[in-house]
Amino acid sequence: MTTRSATAPAGDGDLAIGVDVGGTKVAAGVVDDQGKVLASARRPTPSHDPAEVADAVAELVAELRRTYDVRAVGVGAAGWIDGDRSTVLFAPNLAWRDEPLRDVLAGRVGLPVVVENDGNAMAWAEYRFGAGQGHSDLICVTVGTGIGGGIVLDGQLRRGAFGIGAEMGHMQFMPGGYRCGCGNDGCWEQYASGRALVRGAREVAAASPEAALRMLAGRTVDELSGPDVTAAAQAGDPAAVGCLQQVGCWLGQGLASLAAILDPSRFVIGGGVSDAGELLLGPARDAFRSSLSGRGHRPEADVVVATLGSAAGIVGAADLARGTSTPA
Ligand SMILES: [Zn+2]
Repeated sequence: MTTRSATAPAGDGDLAIGVDVGGTKVAAGVVDDQGKVLASARRPTPSHDPAEVADAVAELVAELRRTYDVRAVGVGAAGWIDGDRSTVLFAPNLAWRDEPLRDVLAGRVGLPVVVENDGNAMAWAEYRFGAGQGHSDLICVTVGTGIGGGIVLDGQLRRGAFGIGAEMGHMQFMPGGYRCGCGNDGCWEQYASGRALVRGAREVAAASPEAALRMLAGRTVDELSGPDVTAAAQAGDPAAVGCLQQVGCWLGQGLASLAAILDPSRFVIGGGVSDAGELLLGPARDAFRSSLSGRGHRPEADVVVATLGSAAGIVGAADLARGTSTPA
């Protein structure tokens, strides 16, 4: 099912298709050169078969091209993409292992295809069209179930020598800490992500159920989710506010480490947990300022919430496919 914007005439402007391949859904959209999504379509991710994922992407692209004339396709995927942006080396939640996705898809759709890490695509979108506009040294941190992100320096997306940089969620944060899916212990995403928020909230609810009554709202401890905690915090529940405060504090401490290395002028915080807004960002800013090296004697980056929401992956992948490397 294709959704069309009521104001978008077909075939207008310099259009590209962006595709966001996530663990649960494949979403695609036609994006113009101002970062506006003119039409979108989606379907569930067939996560166990690489060929079926390629089929799903090709079908979505064909569906959107029935109405729009596009010149390129950008695919953002939750995985490690090689430096040529052609091969998915590894995708923890998908079936891809050394999958030559760019060439497979280019052959299927007959258009130039670019494959990009989803965190990079989101960061690029925020830089070009969202909360990062005007900040040519920018770090975008995506706080979802885990932590992803992207790094823009001197107005260029920085992918690293092998294409797999900016995996900041796996920065060592707490030596000997919680085990991470990457094989190490104490990674930042074990402390400053949605998973950490849920773990903390369940610990509170298990230890003192009476303090967590509003957060639980009739649910069992095991049913408690990140959005439940955020909703309770927004309604003023002190236990839920405290859980977000702890995650925000750890988030801010990690940002200070990133600032020590990369010295951006702005951090843009996206992902599902950023829906908590100032309940997360306020504690993050406080911890950032109190952890910053040389604090009081240096300019400080600001920390703001992302503005493009769940469309960022589509918008960024499309813009990168269009071949834009610097803002117009
Ligand atoms: Zn890790």
